Amino acid sequence: MDCRKFLEEFSDFIDGQSTIGVREAIEEHIALCKKCEVLYNSTQRTLKIIGDHSEQTFELPAEVSARLYARLRTRLKELQK
Ligand SMILES: [Zn+2]
Repeated sequence: MDCRKFLEEFSDFIDGQSTIGVREAIEEHIALCKKCEVLYNSTQRTLKIIGDHSEQTFELPAEVSARLYARLRTRLKELQK
């Protein structure tokens, strides 16, 4: 898995919709790639903040994950400069 593929799959991953195989590939990539690890960690923090303020079961609204995904893409582009 490369960074592009990671990002493609990442949106499903944070939505909890990845297959086991994809999830393993993502975790493998995070272990190898510092940039994506940073992205992953900051996303987890963002999600935790959202989760902390919501009393409902953790489910990311489509709009939020779309915005998050857009932000991640921008971030990754910046990191790749
Ligand atoms: Zn990467």
